[in-house]
Amino acid sequence: MSMSFQGLTLCVKTFGCQMNKHDSERVLGTLEALGATPVDSFEEADMVVFLTCCVREAADTRLYGQVATMRTLPLRPDSPLAKRLIAIGGCIGQRDGRKLVDAMPHVDVVFGTHNLHALPSLLQAALDTGSSQVEVRDASASFPTDLPTDREQPWAAWLPITIGCNNFCSYCIVPYVRGREKSRPLEDIVSEAEGYVAEGVKEITLLGQNVNSYGRDLYGSPRFVDVLDAVAHTGIERIRFATSHPKDLSDEVIERFATLPSLMPALHLPVQSGSDRILKAMNRRYDAARYLDLVRKLREAKGDIALSTDIIVGFPGETEEDFMDTYRLVEAVGYHQVFTFIYSKREGTPAASMPDDTPREVIQGRFDRLVELVQRQAFEANQTERGRVVPVLVEGASKRDSSLLSGRSPKNQTVHAPVPAGCSAADLQGRIVDVRIDDAKTWYLQGSLA
Ligand code: SF4
Repeated sequence: MSMSFQGLTLCVKTFGCQMNKHDSERVLGTLEALGATPVDSFEEADMVVFLTCCVREAADTRLYGQVATMRTLPLRPDSPLAKRLIAIGGCIGQRDGRKLVDAMPHVDVVFGTHNLHALPSLLQAALDTGSSQVEVRDASASFPTDLPTDREQPWAAWLPITIGCNNFCSYCIVPYVRGREKSRPLEDIVSEAEGYVAEGVKEITLLGQNVNSYGRDLYGSPRFVDVLDAVAHTGIERIRFATSHPKDLSDEVIERFATLPSLMPALHLPVQSGSDRILKAMNRRYDAARYLDLVRKLREAKGDIALSTDIIVGFPGETEEDFMDTYRLVEAVGYHQVFTFIYSKREGTPAASMPDDTPREVIQGRFDRLVELVQRQAFEANQTERGRVVPVLVEGASKRDSSLLSGRSPKNQTVHAPVPAGCSAADLQGRIVDVRIDDAKTWYLQGSLA
């Protein structure tokens, strides 16, 4: 089939996690290579691709709402199409498949988490035939590595090293929609990283549902620490990784925070709960003591490492005592950032059938208490940066105030500083500049170029 999207405009809308954001860069790169022109809004777009996540119910609801509005949205006046092409991919595409087209007949293409490479031919077939195309292939298909990418930030790249997950946490739908874990060969990862270094990329984030179990399915069983060493060896300035399951975080990886200067001193280590009883029900396979021991080792290796985490409040059967175990764990760790979620039931997971009779207002009360603690901790953690000079990777002008530039510290804090006289934020975009921090708020640091 010959494929061209010359003359067509494209908008990609992403709901959900970093993996979806990376997928959306690949969709953009692939369709741009075939002639499509990216645009920012649905109104201007001849083709809209939704990349979705079904981990949280809110993303489901927002997706269905936004796709529904597409039906009545007029096409741009000079569009060559008679009807806007709508495609849905990612977790919800994988999970719901043909049901999406049955529920919303104006949807033209549904593709699964492993069918990204098929999107151009599915769109073309929908254009040629006028009928909906659904391809949700078996989730064990091979690692999609060689698609072009249009990076949102030219100086930073997501680099997937595993897809899928083998852990089956009892609340999570990912293993059912993203399939079993598959690791990408080490030489592929290194060659992609080398390409980024040659292009001038400053920061690589290694991605996987659980990067720590990398390589168990590969010949020779390379380990995640081998990936870190090899990517550091390419000369990239900054390395980050996400996500890290505590049960698989090795001493060697912890030690790299001390020995690899390019590994940034920030780690997202999802704890989910501080109650051993709830952790067991979640099938997390560690207890609070093991988690706190990891925190101790991390701080021994890198004294001021910034830790962040995810916490679910209101898991089925959570008692006040369970919640207080979580609260005390958060107090003991002192996180820089905590992503707090109220438990939301995902059909098809074991937790969905667990008895759950805690009143909503009780759960909300616990959530509010935790958020208050987390915000206090984040504020306190940021105060320690006052007076320090930190290297900031500049992302551009601040969205709120264009006289300020905005960027990221090694600990992944947002940093604002006035744009120096004689240059613009765009001039500094993608560069690492030293900023002296003179003020610290809960969510950002403020300073001036040193
Ligand atoms: S580790 Fe658990 S929470 Fe994370 S993706 Fe796998 S099953 Fe889901």
